[in-house]
Order: sequence, then structure tokens, then C-alpha cells
Amino acid sequence: MRLALLLAAAINAAMRTATPSVAPVGPLAGPAVSKAKRLVIVDAGHGGPDNGMHGPIGGKFKILEKDITLSVSKRLAHTLEERGMDVVMTRTTDTLIALSDRGRIANQRKGDLFISIHVNAANPGWKDPGGARGFETYFLAEAKTEDAKRVAQMENDVVRFETSNGPAPSDDALGFILNDMAQNEHLRESSDLAELIQERLGKFHPGPSRGVKQAGFRVLVTAYMPAVLVEIGFGTNPAEAAYINSAAGQEKISNAVADAAVAYLARYERRRGSAGAGATATVARKQ
Ligand SMILES: [Zn+2]
Repeated sequence: MRLALLLAAAINAAMRTATPSVAPVGPLAGPAVSKAKRLVIVDAGHGGPDNGMHGPIGGKFKILEKDITLSVSKRLAHTLEERGMDVVMTRTTDTLIALSDRGRIANQRKGDLFISIHVNAANPGWKDPGGARGFETYFLAEAKTEDAKRVAQMENDVVRFETSNGPAPSDDALGFILNDMAQNEHLRESSDLAELIQERLGKFHPGPSRGVKQAGFRVLVTAYMPAVLVEIGFGTNPAEAAYINSAAGQEKISNAVADAAVAYLARYERRRGSAGAGATATVARKQ
């Protein structure tokens, strides 16, 4: 855990020297956020020995989820910086970060938002697995459908690559956090953000919107902030795999997610401003 945090700090320091923040020129294109800079944690799913999904089914080329998530996350980070946000990435290279450490990095850096990027895979048992397409955004809560459970199990599966450097959150811990008042506050916020992301992606994405869903993602459990996980498309479908693997597709997807984050933060600021100082008392964490 400590090593991972040090690593994250080192990565972040390296990132800041390697890719200096781009100061916004003139007024921001999206809705204005408050003067205090907001920090978005961008989490590229998988990495290192954990390739994530691979695809497509029957395609003449091969993609690995970990490569796509890193590329889209880097573009997302860059766009957010252009929009005046601070950004911390949980990884900037092909390396494995434990699911629980991704949330810890987010908390330690005091992120305002946590966005995890992933690629979906069809269940081989489906009637036409290669035909499944579309994008969906998750927030942390108990899975409501078998399909949401499938995606959570797939994304949680990385724990088998992780060396034991601390107890993984048990299902009891998940239950506790879901019942936690502060986290419930974040559930509503996370669901709002997820809606905005789906709406923005729906404007151009060639696949169908599969909607906002909820499931018990371990990567979201430990992040004490509004947190979402975006499945940007099905890497098992040849056309969609090609799209999410293309520079143009990745640019559009990362811009849409950045737009949603900026719009969400602006809306959040307005709500907080109109609710007055008393509103902050409701997010006091239950002991
Ligand atoms: Zn994934």
C-alpha cells in the first residue's frame, strides 16, 4: 500500500513535469466552476499483468482493455486540465495498482470526483456475444440486475493479480459503506454524474446507451467522493473495438466525459451555494 502511494506520488510528480498544465485561454468553453480549482481523479482500469478484457471476437486485430483505458484516461486528464481542473491519474504507465489503492490515492489527494475508465466484454454464454454493443456508466451500490453483477464481477476479478498488502474490503465492509450516510450522499451525486456522462456519450457514440447502472465495484468502495465507472464500449464487438481503439473515437469519448464532469461540478457548486452553510452538516461522517 505504502509503495503504491509513493509510486502514485512519483507518477504524479513526473506527470506534472512531463505534461505541464495548459492554462485555459479566455473564458472556459463549458460552464464555469468556482475559483477554487477542483481535483478530478482519473483512473485507467487494469494495467501490468492485468490486461482486463481482450477482443474483439472474430476481428483481424487485437485490443487489450488496459491499453485503451490508459489512452482514453490520458486524453481525459489533458482535456480536464485544459478546462481548468487539477487532475491526478492513478496510473500513467502499464502498471498494476490494487483496486483498494486506487481509492486510497483519491482520498489522500482529496479528490472532488473519481472517474474510472473501462471497456466492456460480452459474456461468452450469450446468444451472440460478438454483437453486444453500447456504453454504460456505473455508480457504487448493490447490483440490481444479473448483468450489472456480471460487469462488477469482471472488474473486481483483478484482485487475483494483487499481492496481499492489506485486507481487501469484504462484502461486510461494502455493506457498511453503502449504509454510511456520507457515502449515501455521494451515491446521489455519483448517480447525477453518471446521468450526465451517459447523456454526453449518447450524442455521438455509435453504440446504444445501456443506461446508468449500479453495482458493487471494489474500485469505487474506498473513494469517499462522488465516483463513477464508465464502460466506454464493448471490446468484444469488432466495430466498437475499432472505434474505442481509434484516436478520433477516444478523443470524442474523453471530451464527452470531461464535459460531463465540468457540467456536474458547476451544478454542484450552484446547489451548494444556494443550500447555504448548513448543508455541509449533512455530510458529517457517521462513526
Ligand atoms: Zn475493466
